[in-house]
Amino acid sequence: MSTPPAVPVSALPPYSGPDTVCPKYGTSGASTEHRIARGEIVLPWNPRMRVDGPQPERRHCRCRSCGYQWAEAPLDAALTTAVEVAC
Ligand SMILES: [Zn+2]
Repeated sequence: MSTPPAVPVSALPPYSGPDTVCPKYGTSGASTEHRIARGEIVLPWNPRMRVDGPQPERRHCRCRSCGYQWAEAPLDAALTTAVEVAC
């Protein structure tokens, strides 16, 4: 298994806390989930066709009201990025 490339987490907004607010409509309440860093996703039958780019470790949020989805940097983002770069 290969290690996904280090993607800067600094591009993500900082962790907003346990009571996060939807950045689209300002409603409160979102389901959240920790997601590990991953490499790019390609079509299984055509590896030259990229579906999505690499993603850093992140907190995936989905608004319970409108379904808007966004990602936030974990609290240890700076530490995580330093470790990934060192490997
Ligand atoms: Zn929303």
